[in-house]
Formats: sequence, structure tokens, C-alpha cells
Amino acid sequence: MSTARQYRLASCHDCGLLSKLPSGHGHCPRCGAALHFRKPNSMAKTWAYLIAAIILYIPANVLPMMITGSIVGVQSDTILSGVVYLWVSGEWPLAALVFFASIMVPMLKMIAILLLLITCGRRSNWQPQQRTKLYRLVEFVGRWSMLDIYVVTILAALVQVQSLASIAAGPAAVAFAAVVVLTMLSAMSFDPRLIWDPLDKEQEASGETHDAKH
Ligand SMILES: [Zn+2]
Repeated sequence: MSTARQYRLASCHDCGLLSKLPSGHGHCPRCGAALHFRKPNSMAKTWAYLIAAIILYIPANVLPMMITGSIVGVQSDTILSGVVYLWVSGEWPLAALVFFASIMVPMLKMIAILLLLITCGRRSNWQPQQRTKLYRLVEFVGRWSMLDIYVVTILAALVQVQSLASIAAGPAAVAFAAVVVLTMLSAMSFDPRLIWDPLDKEQEASGETHDAKH
């Protein structure tokens, strides 16, 4: 199996023109965009964004997400206490939705990227097809991640209608938005071709073709 890289061909990310690239990088002869075979420094960037996201995930869950003021007094809620509040007040579907969108999805996304980074870092040839699917899933979910922000907005509106209380976003909202953006950047920096690299190397070494068994 030959790859475009072996023929030194790279396609432009901006205009799609396929051109010959003698060294690792250059510029598109048609539109002038930077050309490279791979996303540059993919692993390092993905790690950096992921670590930042993991760190910010802590304040996003520990600090108050919403500060509600009513006649009774001021109450601040974290994401989890908001979920508990909704659950206790009988809003089970909404409680489940907020829990899933705001706690589970970001965590699963970070775990998935971490898994991809560790396996590619160790040049593992374990389940490359499944890992590629996992990457596509993370990328797909990333586009819908702003859903989490919408959920919080809807929740805020709902509380306001129900209790006529004043409501403000807490510091966790900023941390949470940062987690969403950072996990998206992390997924975008990752180059899924890294998953297949150890298999190509293995094939080059043995001179065999790898077939459907992988
Ligand atoms: Zn171009």
C-alpha cells in the first residue's frame, strides 16, 4: 500500500489543490496557504489543550454555575447541586439532560482524547479502526458541545419563570465554556493519521501487506 506521503503529495487545506511537496512543508502554489503532510506538532498541541481542559473542568464543577437571588436569600448552585435540585423537584428528564450534557459528555470526551494520545504515544497498534471511529465521534460531538451552554441558558430561564428570582451566571460558567472550547481545540489538533502510523511502520519493516484482520 502506498500513501500520498510516500509520493510527497499534499492537498491544500484551503483550496484543495494537490501539489508535490519535496520537504515536510511549503506553500500552496495556487492560494499561498501553508502546506504540510500532517498537522504540525499534533501530539504536543493536543496534550496542551487537553491538560488545560482537565484543569478547568475542576472549577467548572466546584464553583457556582448559577447565583439565584430571591426574597428568601441568595443561593448559589454548582452544576451538580443544580442537577440534584432538579431531580428533587421532580424534573427528572431535565435533571438527566443537564447531568449528561454538562458532566458526562465533557468527561467522556476528555477520556477519549486521553486514550487516543496515550495509545498513539506508545505507538500501539491496538484496534486502529475502533480508535478512528472514536476520534470521529469526539469530533462530531465537539460540534454540538455548545448544547451544554444552551442547556444552562434554558435552565436559567426556567428558574426565572418559575420563581421570579434574579439569576446570574457564576464563575463556573466561564470555566465551563473554556472546557468546551479547549476540548474542541484538542480534538481538532489531533491528527488521526497518527493512529495508523505504527501499522505502516510495521508493514514497511516486514514487507508484508496488512489486510482486513486489523
Ligand atoms: Zn491552496
